[in-house]
Amino acid sequence: MITNREKSTIDAIATILDRSFNNKAFDIDPANIASSVHVLVVKGRETQEVYFLPNNRYTIGRNNDNDIQILSKGVSRYHATLYKRKGTFWIIDGSTNGTPSTNGLLINQKACKSSKIKSGDTISFCSDSYAVFFEIELVHKNLNSLVNSPDKALSPNKALNSAFVTAKNQNESDGIENFLSVIPELIIKFDSSGVIKNIKESKDNVFSAYGKSLIEASIFSCFSPYISKRISLAMGAARMTGNAQAFDCEIDANNQKTSCEVEVSMENKDVFFAVFRNIQSRKHIENKLLHDALHDNLTGLPNRSFFIKKADLLIQKRRHNKKHAFALLFVDIDKFKIINDSLGHLIGDEFIVHISKRLKKCLRPQDIIARFGGDEFTILINDVSSTDEAILITRRLQTALAKPIKLEGHELMPSASIGIVLSNECYTNVNDMLRDADLAMYQAKAGGRSRFEIFDQEMHQKVVNFIKLESDLRQALRRNEFKLFYQPIVCLKTQKLVGFEALIRWFNPDRGLVNPTEFISQAEETGLIVPLGEWALKEGCRQLDNWHQIAGVDPDLTLNINLSSKQFSSANLTQHIADLLEVFSINPKNLKLEITESIIMENSQFSIDVFHRLRKLGVQICIDDFGTGYSSLSYLHRFPIDALKIDRSFVSAMDDAAQNTGFAIAQSVVGLAHNLGVKVVAEGIENARHLVWLRSFQCDYGQGYFFAKPLNAEKATALVKGEMEWSYIQNAPSRLPS
Ligand code: C2E
Ligand code: MG
Ligand code: MG
Repeated sequence: MITNREKSTIDAIATILDRSFNNKAFDIDPANIASSVHVLVVKGRETQEVYFLPNNRYTIGRNNDNDIQILSKGVSRYHATLYKRKGTFWIIDGSTNGTPSTNGLLINQKACKSSKIKSGDTISFCSDSYAVFFEIELVHKNLNSLVNSPDKALSPNKALNSAFVTAKNQNESDGIENFLSVIPELIIKFDSSGVIKNIKESKDNVFSAYGKSLIEASIFSCFSPYISKRISLAMGAARMTGNAQAFDCEIDANNQKTSCEVEVSMENKDVFFAVFRNIQSRKHIENKLLHDALHDNLTGLPNRSFFIKKADLLIQKRRHNKKHAFALLFVDIDKFKIINDSLGHLIGDEFIVHISKRLKKCLRPQDIIARFGGDEFTILINDVSSTDEAILITRRLQTALAKPIKLEGHELMPSASIGIVLSNECYTNVNDMLRDADLAMYQAKAGGRSRFEIFDQEMHQKVVNFIKLESDLRQALRRNEFKLFYQPIVCLKTQKLVGFEALIRWFNPDRGLVNPTEFISQAEETGLIVPLGEWALKEGCRQLDNWHQIAGVDPDLTLNINLSSKQFSSANLTQHIADLLEVFSINPKNLKLEITESIIMENSQFSIDVFHRLRKLGVQICIDDFGTGYSSLSYLHRFPIDALKIDRSFVSAMDDAAQNTGFAIAQSVVGLAHNLGVKVVAEGIENARHLVWLRSFQCDYGQGYFFAKPLNAEKATALVKGEMEWSYIQNAPSRLPS
């Protein structure tokens, strides 16, 4: 695809060609336009071409190894050389070796040995071969003046005559002096055994030691053994290929090393040239550009591309040497988004810098840590012999992180979730390793943050299953494969049914009955919980309305419906529930919404606001799985709620009499709730002992397998109608069994 800019460059040049050369048939290749600033339009007897000039040096001549070949007899085999200096090109008569051209060079009709060419300058090589040099920017700016300028008109015959005159006057020596005025390079002419025959000195201090006094010395004795060896190798290669050979090296001058480029070329079998060029500033810029391209500018750590290159090298090394083992760690800072969003990006950046320093301190020089993106770091641990070693290092990283960072009056407690993957022969590319380390990190996060996980095949299978589950869930929604089951909730004092909790079930033709624990969290992650939760709310309300239509049903019969985190934080929740209450003519007090303690704790102020709005509608609020979300009890009074549901883990813990925790927690939750005027429901009552104990603490309600498992709609309806036996409650003992 040619950009508009490139297209307009081509058009502009075509216009110039049309006017200057009276010939539109130039073939303009748009490749290179983007990287070029200059362009040379060349016309020979048989050729006409446009050259974009992105490089620093071009040779021009009849021979086909020239960068710019002009097919005309009047053009010397090596006629001229273009050198880029200070942003523009110099043209020098003759070859890079200093051998002058036969017909000479005319710039704007004036014979010259060298000239700094300006946009619009014409260069004549002989009567039928000439070129025009342009600066692309100026082509755009001054198209008309360039094209119409009278003194730029070419006059090939005149050019040829002047060129001959110049050639005759030329100094017939080896021509090296001709370069002096424009070329800063040191050029050494030597024979096949290395004896220096001539030197074009350089004004550059780096080359001050290399003067005419070295003529007749051996080039191999003038430079370091390394450079001498490279010159000798380059001579051999130049002899074999006929092409100039270049290499980079460092030259010691004034107690400092300077980067240089050396180009060795062969004129004939006994004449060689070595051109030494100071490339220190270019190297400096190159190194800086290279560094910037491979490092993160906030932390100074290597970036993603650097990391990928290094990891790739290690993978290749591992493939050749089975004993070489390494580990790749994917580190994700926990809750960084909250810090960034609440304290601002500047503090977020500083936080990341602190973390990067701490992580780096834990690693050895041969390990590599990179900032992979925002709050993600990747680490390569070299030479890890066992999983235990990788774990040890990971623990060290986590310990180093787990100290507070003070930033502008805020004390932040960093932690990270880390995924570890160990090298093995199956890994042939970095992406696979990164994918697995990321996956393990993700598992660590899901397992409660500030943890690490080691990748294993099972994990991979889990992901495959997860992806399948997601598509199955989507299909299930379309095919109405979900059903609500209803678990009775009983008043522990009166032993009467007071209501139900609606619990979703999935009937899948292949999987059979699937319980919510197997899909709710996935549905939450994929966002499918939103349509699923809406369906459950609507279906629950429809069922509640149905029950209340039955004659003789307790008007206080309630239905508890669970809300997911996404539903709870959705902006239209209150409106949605208000609509359902209206559509199904439900008495709001009969609908109880369950929100887990952990959801509430994610953003307590937001929760308080939503609770107030919901309670305005008249519906009741229960905190589900109470005791598992680490909420501060002192906070509880701020939540406008109607009931707490003691998590069933505390109820089952009561079985372990040796550990008094179950009792203590259940009892204190009941006490606390009652003090706040809130009812308590115990989940997971599985046996008579649970019931008796909870009743003795004055716990208000209970649900559990001791009374009934979740029932399908028909059975629950039969219970509501009094058509099903309710034997458990009737038989429940009132004393603690001995
Ligand atoms: P939950 O809201 O805490 O529901 C109680 C869970 O405990 C239910 O599991 C129930 O079957 C189970 N259970 C009740 N009594 C006993 C007992 O005596 N012993 C044992 N071991 N378990 C008992 P279930 O139905 O598998 O639901 C699991 C969780 O899935 C629910 O926990 C709830 O958080 C979620 N869930 C269920 N339905 C929905 C729904 O429609 N929407 C949302 N967002 N979440 C739902
Ligand atoms: Mg619940
Ligand atoms: Mg629960």
